[in-house]
Amino acid sequence: MKKLAAGNWKMNGSAAALAEVQALLAAHPDPACEMLLCPPATLLAQMNWAARGSVLKLGGQDCHTAASGAHTGDISADMLKEAGATYVILGHSERRADHGESDALVLAKAQAAIATGLVAVVCLGETEAQRDAGETLAVIGAQLDGSVPRDASAAQLVIAYEPVWAIGTGRTPTIAQIAEVHNFLRARLTAHIGAEAANTRLLYGGSVKPSNAAEIFAVADVDGALVGGASLKAPDFGAIVSALA
Ligand code: PGA
Repeated sequence: MKKLAAGNWKMNGSAAALAEVQALLAAHPDPACEMLLCPPATLLAQMNWAARGSVLKLGGQDCHTAASGAHTGDISADMLKEAGATYVILGHSERRADHGESDALVLAKAQAAIATGLVAVVCLGETEAQRDAGETLAVIGAQLDGSVPRDASAAQLVIAYEPVWAIGTGRTPTIAQIAEVHNFLRARLTAHIGAEAANTRLLYGGSVKPSNAAEIFAVADVDGALVGGASLKAPDFGAIVSALA
């Protein structure tokens, strides 16, 4: 399985930031891992042009369940695909919190994305209160059961474990905690999709940076990272890409 370094630009970046993409590709023209950037949808087409002929993959940060229609402010998987995306992040904790997205909605979005031919990057993770209460595996298990399609193949699906309390905080779980969750996710996914689970990439996300990437990537069942803040600067994301080699 090829590991995956995925950058989530969130609501950041402008056309000027495309220089970061060129710098990234100049430094890492042929990385050992797959390299993915998910910019705001308004930048996808320009980024697709800037990255033409390169190994860089592009993704959206959300999509609607419908292909088109009366859904003001939304974007469909087909539209992301037309703009150059081959992936889409779904169920990020910021979407779950800011837009009240339920597991059922995330599941429907993942099904729509996969039907369109995009790879669905389904995010899940516990809050700090849930971890403190000893509920981490129960919460993550329920999110996986409710938001991951059961007929997906390894090529159609990526799971990102992102503890809510680790996102943008500079705090990360211990290596043992990451290992426990990823091991649990692999087993739970196997119960749903069988042998495909062995080849489905399980990403860790939440305050991944050049200084902690190597030790996180050494954990069994960590097949890459979903990176927020550190994906905005080419040298930082490039260092994370190198750590995944
Ligand atoms: P962070 O964000 O790397 O800035 O913590 C990760 C994410 O939300 O995907």
